[in-house]
Amino acid sequence: MSAVPVQVPFQLPDGAPDLRAALLDWYDIHRRRLAWRPAADEARPDPYRVWLSEIMLQQTTTPHATPYFEAFTRRWPTVSDLAAAPDADVMAAWAGLGYYARARNLLACARAVAGGHGGVFPDTEAGLLALPGVGAYTAAAVAAIAFGRPANVVDGNVERIMARLFAVETPLPAARPELKRLAGVLVADHRPGDWAQALMDLGATVCRPGNPLCDRCPLTAWCAAFQSGQPGCWPLKTKKADRPRRHGVVWVLRDDRGRVALVRRPDRGLLGGMMGLPTSDWSAAPVEAAPPAPADWRVAGAIDHVFTHFALTLEVRAGEGTGDFVWTPVDEALAALPTVFRKALERGLA
Ligand code: SF4
Repeated sequence: MSAVPVQVPFQLPDGAPDLRAALLDWYDIHRRRLAWRPAADEARPDPYRVWLSEIMLQQTTTPHATPYFEAFTRRWPTVSDLAAAPDADVMAAWAGLGYYARARNLLACARAVAGGHGGVFPDTEAGLLALPGVGAYTAAAVAAIAFGRPANVVDGNVERIMARLFAVETPLPAARPELKRLAGVLVADHRPGDWAQALMDLGATVCRPGNPLCDRCPLTAWCAAFQSGQPGCWPLKTKKADRPRRHGVVWVLRDDRGRVALVRRPDRGLLGGMMGLPTSDWSAAPVEAAPPAPADWRVAGAIDHVFTHFALTLEVRAGEGTGDFVWTPVDEALAALPTVFRKALERGLA
């Protein structure tokens, strides 16, 4: 739906405590059962599990992150276990989650906690923020959820709810400081971790991006966007420029045992340190590139993939041959490769 500015006079409600109570009551009944959350009657969540889930959930949906979270915590039940893991094992276990710099930061943070804090996470927002790879959002989320600190936990869900509750007329991303200030006004000492998670759950299940389900929402009495009759118009957004597109070639080379040729990518840069298929540079226009080994190369089609800052089209070429590669059985390669290369491998094998 296009954003239609609707002027709604609105102030911070006198009934802010009632608004908080209404959302916490709703949360007590409708909270999502998530792998990283203890049952309602258990003790406070384990900071390691909260931290790990928050890192995984950055740029990743809950259903996609859940099996990774379960696999990580089965294999590395504590932060010290994770800190002791070889880099290659953690990078391979992360494959498919995307945004691979997070995996490197994950290890750096685990090692800082294990080495510098005796395996115990700092219990303040400032202490958490000092850890490698922990940004303002993650520090606030862990401080609130794991340690009961009244931290202002603001992600895209919370921004959307604030924009609607207060009918904020400034478009995103310029509205961010204002939305954070509004969210901060509603934070209180009472159940701060539940408050943060209640907002997350409301944003994920009711106050959804395109089509808010206001008839299921406990906040309609306070919501200016609801009162306008057009709640889906918020948050207002500045139109984004289209992503630039890059092009390249990727080679699926198999040997006479059916194994596939992989390479380890350089530590720095996109997908750094991950296993990948041999590929050309990715440039603004299609270019002809020399193959990584002699073979009877044939074009097997193309795949598209979208990264944060650009879209990528890779022509897939397949062949049989030999060479100095990490020769890997196909099943293992499919499990270990980042998504863009997994797509290319599937195309090359088809
Ligand atoms: Fe979102 Fe509708 Fe609830 Fe307002 S009433 S917070 S728009 S779901």
